This record gives sequence, C-alpha cells and structure tokens, in this order.
Amino acid sequence: MVTKLNEVDCVIIGVGLTGAMLAKEMTMAGLTVVGLERGPDRRPNEEFVLPRIRDELRYQTRMELMADNSVDTVTFRNTSDMTALPIRRWGAFLPGEGVGGTSNHWGGSHWRYLPTDFKIRSVITEKYGARAIPEDMTIQDWPVTYDELEPYYDKFDKLCGVSGKAGNLKGQKIEGGNIFEGPRSDEYPSKPLKSSAGALMVAEAAKSLGYHPFPAPFAAPSAPYTNIYGVTLGACEYCGFCGRNSCEANAKASGTINVMPVLRNEPKFQLRTHAFASKLNYDRQAKRVTSVFYTDMNTGEEYEQPANIVILAGFVFTNTQMLLHSGIGQPYDPRTGRGLVGKNYCYQFEAPATAFFENKNLSPFMGAPGDAVVFDDFNGESFDHTGLGFFGGGYVRAGSGASPPIGGRDVPPETPSWGSKWKAETVKWYYGVVDFNTQGSVYANRANYMDLDPTYKDSLGRPLIRMTYNGTENDHKMSAYLLTKVEACIKAMNPSVYEVRPRPKMFTVVPYQSTHNTGGTMMGSTPGNSVVNRYQQAWDAHNLFIMGASTFPQQPGYNPTGTLGALAYWSVDKIKSSYLNNPGPLVQA
Ligand SMILES: Cc1cc2nc3c(=O)[nH]c(=O)nc-3n(C[C@H](O)[C@H](O)[C@H](O)COP(=O)(O)OP(=O)(O)OC[C@H]3O[C@@H](n4cnc5c(N)ncnc54)[C@H](O)[C@@H]3O)c2cc1C
Repeated sequence: MVTKLNEVDCVIIGVGLTGAMLAKEMTMAGLTVVGLERGPDRRPNEEFVLPRIRDELRYQTRMELMADNSVDTVTFRNTSDMTALPIRRWGAFLPGEGVGGTSNHWGGSHWRYLPTDFKIRSVITEKYGARAIPEDMTIQDWPVTYDELEPYYDKFDKLCGVSGKAGNLKGQKIEGGNIFEGPRSDEYPSKPLKSSAGALMVAEAAKSLGYHPFPAPFAAPSAPYTNIYGVTLGACEYCGFCGRNSCEANAKASGTINVMPVLRNEPKFQLRTHAFASKLNYDRQAKRVTSVFYTDMNTGEEYEQPANIVILAGFVFTNTQMLLHSGIGQPYDPRTGRGLVGKNYCYQFEAPATAFFENKNLSPFMGAPGDAVVFDDFNGESFDHTGLGFFGGGYVRAGSGASPPIGGRDVPPETPSWGSKWKAETVKWYYGVVDFNTQGSVYANRANYMDLDPTYKDSLGRPLIRMTYNGTENDHKMSAYLLTKVEACIKAMNPSVYEVRPRPKMFTVVPYQSTHNTGGTMMGSTPGNSVVNRYQQAWDAHNLFIMGASTFPQQPGYNPTGTLGALAYWSVDKIKSSYLNNPGPLVQA
C-alpha cells in the first residue's frame, strides 16, 4: 500500500550539492520544501573528523561515501551491438550517496566554461565552414550564454569560497591568472593556494615553452571565509586527502559543509533520508508532475509525496532514469536519431603522464588539488584547429603531492606490479614524482547514449539505466594532441624517467578516470532539440526542473561542477522571479 502524504510547495529528489543549494533558495523564498535523499544523513562534525577521515582504506579503497551498487547501479557496454552488464563495483566514476552526494568526496577543481563553449556549434561552423562538423557529432549550442551565467558563476564561487587568481577581470587580462577565461565580474573570493614544489617546476617549464601557467582554481578557501549563507569555512590544510574523502578542515565545498549547516535550521525544510525516489506521477494532459513516489529503504514502505514544484537533482543517471521510468519525453533511439531522453551522454576520460626525478624531495605526503598548476592554452576554441583533424581541447594540470600511502606509489614503466623489486622502486621514487593530467572536451556522438536496460533491475524492481559509451575518433585525436604538449613540458623539465599514458581505444569502466558524466536530459532552444529549456524546466512538464550535468548538451574541456552550480542558481532565480507568480512554461515552445 502506498501512503499519500500532504502536499508541499516543492519536493527535491537528491540532497547532494545542487539539491541542498536549491532547497536553501526555495525555503528562502518562503516555500515548504521536502528533500528526498536515498542515502544516509552525513554530518561533517561527526563523520568527517580526525583520525577517521584520513583513512585511505575506508574511503578511497572501500569507497565508503559512494552509492551502494547492490541497491542501484548502471549497466555498461561500449556499443549498441553488445550486451550490457551491471557495474558491481564502481571504477571509472564514483557517484555518491547520502546528504551532500558526490560533492562530499569530489576533488574540488573549480572551473567556468569559455564563452565560446556555450555556442560551440555556431563558432565551429563560422570558423571552419558549414561542413566541418562530422555528421555523427551531435553537438549543439547551449541556450544560455556565458554573459548571462556570469553573475551566477560569481554567486557559486562565493558559496564555495573558491581560491584562485583571475586572468580576466572585467575584460582586462591579468598575467598569472588564466588569460583565456571569460571576463569575471570579481576576483576569486580567496587567494590561490600555495603551489607545490612539483607545480613550480612545471610552471617554469611551461613558461619556457611559451604557455601561460597559473594556480589551479580550487573550491576551498586558502584562508577562513564566510560564504553567502553566513557559513564560515576553514582554510585548506593541504592534508593530502581530498578526492574520494571528505574534508576535516570544513574547507572543501560540498552540500554538507557549505549549505546544510544553515538549511537544517530552516523550519520550512524537511529532510527525509533513506528515501529512494522511484517514479514521478506525470499528468500528460496538464503537462505537470503531480507527485513523487518513494520507498523508505529502512522499512520498505512506499509513499506518494504530492508537490507543486518538483526538482530532479539526483545526478546524471537518476535524472535520466526518472524521466524514462515516468514516461516523460521520448527515449532516444540511436538508429533513427529520434527522441531526446538519454541522448548526448558524454564522459570525460583522462590521459595522464608521470615524470620521475631521482634525489628530489617534493613532499608528496601532503598537498591539495589547489596546489597544482594549470596551462589552458589548448582548450576549446582558444587555439586554431585548422588541419588538426579534431575539435575541442582541454587544460593540462600538474603538480606533486597528495600521494597517500596505498594509492600514491607511482613507479616507472616496466616496474613489476608486486614483489621486492616493486617495493624497492616505490621507495626509490616516492619523493620525486610529478603527475600530469589531461581530460578535455567530449563532443557528443550519435552512438553514445543512455536508455533502460532490458534485463537488469534495481532493488525496487525498476530497470537499471544502461550506458552505451565509447571514446570517439575526434576525442582520441584531441587527447593525443594534448599529450604532445604534456610531453614537451616534461622534456623541458629533464626528468630521470617519464611515462605518458594515452587513453585506451576502448573505454573501460574499471580504473577511475573522472566522475564527469553529462547529458541525458540536455538543454536547448526548442522542444525539438532538447529535454529542458534554458531554465532547466522540462518542456513536457512545466513544474519539473532538472538540475546537474544531465542538462549539458556536450562536455567542454573543463570539469562540470562550476557550471552546474551556476546553472542551478540561474534557474532558481528565474523560478523565484517568474515561475512562482505565474506558473507555466518559462520559454514558449
Ligand atoms: C572522486 C570525484 C572527484 C571529482 N572531482 C571533481 C572536480 O575536481 N571538479 C568538478 O567539477 N567535479 C568533480 N567531481 C564531480 C562532482 O562531484 C559532481 O559534478 C557534483 O557533485 C554533482 O552534483 P549534483 O548535485 O548534480 O549530484 P550529487 O552531488 O551526486 O547529488 C545527487 C544526490 O541525489 C541522490 N539520489 C540519486 N538518486 C536518488 C533517488 N532515486 N532518490 C533519492 N535520492 C537520490 C544521491 O544519493 C545524491 O546524494 C568529482 C566527483 C568524484 C566522485
């Protein structure tokens, strides 16, 4: 039996990063809000504390903060003629669970997209000709511009207390920052972190090659900072445990640290944990979602929560799966190219490199993602692609440090993977490693998508989301090009040994690469080319708003969270200023 509950103004599915931000903004507008979170509550002052938080085995190896894939997972295959199998243990990407979601254990590399990224189809066509874009590359312009988003990027920076150095302040280029970025209205809220010893070596080498290195922007302040909601954040302590761990210093931005301390005090907000949302109740005639069904995972009881506004903030997989389960929009069919739900799925995979320096001590036992340096000379349309045979690009990020005892044991190529020789090599090289990483853009392809799996089900009996994904020729060429720049930089540093590791041709879900999954409910200018409009409002249900990277039409060459945070603020601003007074479509179809 399903228990029907009293109606609330707004229900939010997923109390991760965007879910918490949206709940805060909606309660500030006077709305009653229920947050449904499938995982447990997470309280930093109880859970993310010393000594337990610096436990590499618990968090990095055993993945304590990640989603439980015995309850819900993703099935995967490379191409549509293969049979997909469920991912039983997360590898390539690590979706989170519990209040704060994936943001509890993210890496905090904080980026804005380039102004040209938002109109990439038009820019490429204009620069390289009408036939330049291959037919199977299904990229499209975003329905929002950098200039429109800029105030919301700024607001999100000030939620997170981001540390960094501006390279373009109101149009004025500033050496030492990223001179390729779009104009910022304000400096970063916090000064950059100190660069690691390895990062300083890379900066020198990059400069000698004519590149423009700068300190990596990082979603944690370098000094105590009070954010837009009055939450005081601590300074990053360079503890060496960041990605896959949470933050003992109350510094790295997350839903739990930056929003929940004040959201918990909002009388209009109700948090329901272990509440696994299963379906949206869709009134096709009225083009509205009337309620959300969920299961209490502790008792197995089912509930129906009616609401005036429904916000889907459950990360890329849940957002797409929920529309498919609920019959909202047309599922994408790669054979015909018709349908939009599940289309333009993109995943950013990496190509790293390592340089080894004998007799150098680069203090690898400490560090933070913000102590790296970056050069961004080969990203997006910041450079000329004529004759290169691909579009897109990415930044190069490098440094030393934050090498924990189990995982941080880089050894030169040809070293055995176990035994006394391996032990001797880890001791020899531990102190002298500089790591490079490239990820780069992922330009959507007709063959990469998500749909419902015909065989495998989650613990509620619903079909799992199925991912059909492989790297494309365009993106492999782009990655190989970036690696030539990395190799040049490494050579300029004159290491004892180095290794450059190109991407495998076939994407594999086994080693970790990034949790930069995007697409599936993409945004666009018309119902014919998108699932949601420029305010992330579903074309097919005007009271349904979808937050997170599932709305990205494709993936530019940076990490996604800066942009999905800015988009959440941009959309909620419109909900508050227009939708609440006049419910209905915010953009005419
Ligand atoms: C190791 C790691 C490193 C990363 N590093 C970076 C980085 O350096 N830079 C960057 O930009 N990004 C990074 N990311 C990605 C970043 O964490 C995500 O982009 C961001 O957290 C997404 O926010 P979100 O609100 O969309 O989703 P989340 O924060 O994941 O929140 C979604 C929430 O919804 C809940 N949920 C899902 N389904 C349901 C359901 N059916 N019912 C109820 N609740 C549900 C989940 O439990 C979760 O709490 C990293 C991620 C990982 C794992």
